[in-house]
Amino acid sequence: MHCWDPRIETMPKEDLQKLQYRLLKTLVYRLYSFSEFYHRRMKEAGVHPDDIRTLSDIRLLPFMYKHDLRDNYPNRIFCAPHDEVVRYHVSSGTTGKPTVVGYTRKDLDLWTTSLARALTSCGLGRGDVIQVSYGYGLFTGGLGLHYGAERIGAAVLPTSVGNTERQIELMQDLKATAIACTPSYLIHIGEAAERMGISIKNDTDLRSAIIGAEPWSESMRTRIYETMGVKAYNIYGTSEISGPMFSECTAQQGIHIWGDIAYPEIIDPVTGEVLESGESGELVMTVLQKEALPMIRYRIGDITRIDDEPCACGRTHPRIQRITGRVDDMLIIRGINVFPSAVEHALLGIPELAGHFLIEVDRKGSLDDMIVRVEVAPEAFSDRINDLINIKKKVEHTLKSALNVAVVVELAEPGSLPRFEGKAKRVIDRRVI
Ligand SMILES: [Zn+2]
Repeated sequence: MHCWDPRIETMPKEDLQKLQYRLLKTLVYRLYSFSEFYHRRMKEAGVHPDDIRTLSDIRLLPFMYKHDLRDNYPNRIFCAPHDEVVRYHVSSGTTGKPTVVGYTRKDLDLWTTSLARALTSCGLGRGDVIQVSYGYGLFTGGLGLHYGAERIGAAVLPTSVGNTERQIELMQDLKATAIACTPSYLIHIGEAAERMGISIKNDTDLRSAIIGAEPWSESMRTRIYETMGVKAYNIYGTSEISGPMFSECTAQQGIHIWGDIAYPEIIDPVTGEVLESGESGELVMTVLQKEALPMIRYRIGDITRIDDEPCACGRTHPRIQRITGRVDDMLIIRGINVFPSAVEHALLGIPELAGHFLIEVDRKGSLDDMIVRVEVAPEAFSDRINDLINIKKKVEHTLKSALNVAVVVELAEPGSLPRFEGKAKRVIDRRVI
């Protein structure tokens, strides 16, 4: 194993937790003393920095939400003096007012260090040529990866997004060995290369892809490897915590969250209770060392779970598993949290189905009813009623064990369920709340 920072990355767990506690304590005292926003928040929650006596006392602190940034637009909750801020990034604001993130010199250095560790853990380093095809600008992807790649001594090819044919020519001419971009842009590059008569697998040196900023799946990873000969690594981060910061290592068993930089928690999105290690819920992140815009218990809204077991790579820092959905999409059925993405995931494993489905939720009396309509694959569709009953039973059983709630399954003929362009609307909720 090659680490960027071996002393930190393979630190014994107990030492890492001691370090996290010290950093948390310092952060909380600083914010209570110097930030009007955090001081008021902690007062309202009835918590004083002296109450934080162990690392798990973090759960006494109040949550932070995206609307806290929006409500204080553009920079009213920044904690660093104005002249110490050296960079701004701004989120696109597709779902409301944009949010502004600021960085001091130390914040930028920490972000870059985080990415240097991440890129090294993907097997990259000096001698690599990393093509950064994330957008450069207000979005954090381009500049974030750019400085991380430079830090590890790789050569950066800052192509940004667009002009795909030229990107492919430069990839060939300058012998790029890795690319950082969104999964959809990587697929687009692969298809464009094919049209140009270029095989990424045989005619370029590209061997790794650092992809993120959009959801993607294990089947996409396989497809990228088979068609392009490229090993894809998942990278994670949101602008509120700095930008992309964490990635998988070569063991590809989850995304390492550098514990000296951030402290992740998984909570029940409804009650806010911290869940046991290994349980799936909403990811909450505290950035332990950030000056301009500290984030304490920030509710990211992504659904995942934490794996705290030792990683095959030897790093001791916890890992989060692939994001399986967003809290905003969650349904509560008879008191149980159900994610449409979990339904999708369970259905993917049933070969008799075509992959199209629709969830309908209704309330009969005081009970919620959830009906999942699934389309049978043409090759599995049969005139024999017994065959269809068996498929229905199989789907009901699979969903019951995946969701912990009984659902009614209705089979639909091949081609009969709606198709979606862009974001699919697979849930119809008829309950009046
Ligand atoms: Zn690892």
